[in-house]
Amino acid sequence: MRKIEDSIFKVEDEHTSGLYHKRHLAITRGAGALVWDAEGREYIDCDTGHGIAVLGHCHPKVVSAIVNQASALLTCGESFYSEPRARLLQVLTSVLPRALGRIFLCNSGTESVEAAVKFARLATGRTKIVACKRGFHGRTLGSLSATWNPGYRAPFEPLVPGFVHITFNDYEEAHDVIDTSTAAVIIEPVQGEGGVIPATPEFLSYVRELCTERGALLVFDEVQTGMGRTGAFTASQEYGVVPDILCLSKGLGGGLPIAAVAFNPDLITLTPGVHASTFGGNPVACAAAAAATEALIEERLPERAKELGARFMALLSEVLSPCAVVREIRGKGLMIGIELKARSGRYLQMLQERGILALAAGPTVIRLLPPLVITWPQLERVAETLASVLVEATPALERV
Ligand SMILES: *Cc1c(COP(=O)(O)O)cnc(C)c1O
Repeated sequence: MRKIEDSIFKVEDEHTSGLYHKRHLAITRGAGALVWDAEGREYIDCDTGHGIAVLGHCHPKVVSAIVNQASALLTCGESFYSEPRARLLQVLTSVLPRALGRIFLCNSGTESVEAAVKFARLATGRTKIVACKRGFHGRTLGSLSATWNPGYRAPFEPLVPGFVHITFNDYEEAHDVIDTSTAAVIIEPVQGEGGVIPATPEFLSYVRELCTERGALLVFDEVQTGMGRTGAFTASQEYGVVPDILCLSKGLGGGLPIAAVAFNPDLITLTPGVHASTFGGNPVACAAAAAATEALIEERLPERAKELGARFMALLSEVLSPCAVVREIRGKGLMIGIELKARSGRYLQMLQERGILALAAGPTVIRLLPPLVITWPQLERVAETLASVLVEATPALERV
């Protein structure tokens, strides 16, 4: 078995782009909240490809939708009609706020943000876009202009002009910066990459009011928070704030690449040719996404994320209380961040050695994005393992 793994490492190490920090693990199989490596070792997956596997790995309904659609038709552009696409549009518009009655389909999170920015410029005739510090919206040039992290931006400047960043959850800055030249305000209701930081409900409703008053469109980037992750189908629904444009991706395809930009047709009118995507609305991706969304609703996974998330946060506060290295535990639903007083890298490695996959969110935050189907005993194991790893590693810090 070692041999298989070594040969995978060798080829990837030699020929892959070099853009990723590689974790020494070749994952070959997944089911529910578990994955297995090439040596047959089992892991509880709280990384899930940065939150993609909201339904768990290889959800049977998603798998059978993919298999059935793949054997019927693999490709069909948006110039033609397609049953799986209609089914996806139907189910998405039935679960999203009524105002978001139209949907543009594309293939990744960053593309959905690009589209949102273009739609906002088009609808308002304005070019200024207000984003938030610590926000993350993707890596292509338009989305990167909305992304805050200077490390991601600096090598690629100059970026798209017109983007400004305000402090997340700061009313005064919002009040001063969002004006009548603003095309859109783009916000993650819970900042993911920036460290798992929930917006205050007051901030989101205040920005909603400002946008309406000043004629700017409100864009929620729910690429990470959507699909039940934070305890409702979208975090906006959990917060009770309706945006004008909403981006979904990560979990949407049940594992396949797809993104959706839902928008308010009373504010945005799109005509043929102003934007497009060759692969957008692909029938296999749509079949997977429709099945994933239907399963999410049928299995009441957003509600489950809410209940389990609250219980799990309480358990974490209890078991991590002796860990001096922990600064704060925060999150919403099953989107959880544990901020440390130290860099998270070695703890993530220790967790991996003990059968738990988690990810970082910035240098000091351990981020947990488990599938919403994860069981309570599995979450208990995650909490125990975290406690053991963080307690063991703590003595050096207590002396600080
Ligand atoms: C992951 C993410 C993106 C970018 O998605 P890609 O599919 O990697 O382009 C954009 N916005 C948010 C909030 C994300 O979490």
